[in-house]
Amino acid sequence: MTRELEGKVGLVTGGTSGIGRDTAVLFARAGAKVVVSGRREPEGKETVELVSAAGGDGLFVKADVSKASEVDALIQKAVERFGRLDIAFNNAGIEGVWVPIIKQSEEDWDRTIDINLKGVWLCLKYEIRQMLKQGGGGAIVNMASINGLIGAAGAAAYSASKHGVMGLTKAAALETARSRIRINAVCPAVIETPMRERLFDAPLVHKYVLSCHPIGRFGRPTEIAEAVVWMCSDRASFMTGQSLVLDGGFLAGQNSPS
Ligand code: NAD
Repeated sequence: MTRELEGKVGLVTGGTSGIGRDTAVLFARAGAKVVVSGRREPEGKETVELVSAAGGDGLFVKADVSKASEVDALIQKAVERFGRLDIAFNNAGIEGVWVPIIKQSEEDWDRTIDINLKGVWLCLKYEIRQMLKQGGGGAIVNMASINGLIGAAGAAAYSASKHGVMGLTKAAALETARSRIRINAVCPAVIETPMRERLFDAPLVHKYVLSCHPIGRFGRPTEIAEAVVWMCSDRASFMTGQSLVLDGGFLAGQNSPS
């Protein structure tokens, strides 16, 4: 990998596993200093060890993205340690409980929206403030999903949260374009992570969901991380307010089972 993020300071939320962990490692390989954030300290520290093993400099900061005071403190700690913030991947998210709307509890709706949508909004708020304080410039990628573009029966709260991330991304990009802060979203189909295991492990469900991916397999976390590194690099300098779909052909073949 070329060191296209050399000298930059990056943040990854939800960096304790899955896509976030692989992105933290690729940020480091690309030359960035990496702030890894999440709620689970031991797993966060493991990610920082992987960052070090990749030759990078990492810091774990415990924070729940749905709490304003914790996100504010996260950005402050990142700046205390590395002096600035140049790139961020707002990746933390949960699947919530996948049931029909008529069975969904208000508590689960609130939790899913609080983490997946309000969490991204809070991260944007404090990241953009910091980037503006530095005089502007920067790149932010928000984690959406193909569920930010299409619905899924039984996943209303999750789909609504990810559609919300798409709108938030566009509005934020317009607010920051003149300050040279680019804000985009990434929309993966199913990726091999602990979330995939929680959602689609039952054999019939697994078989059906796999059949929606014309490429014949689920994605790997590193395949999303590669795209995020590119979107955060200067090579994507004209991309803002957009989303990148990484789905193994899922959306192209939506009505044709393969
Ligand atoms: P994962 O469960 O391994 O990772 C989710 C991460 O977010 C974990 O590190 C978790 O601890 C963290 N997190 C959850 N709630 C948090 C909170 N309140 N504050 C801080 N951190 C929190 O699963 P993943 O698949 O790597 O998911 C990462 C993101 O990718 C999620 O936003 C998810 O919606 C999205 N996504 C996943 C898939 C997939 O198929 N795996 C597809 C599309 C989008």
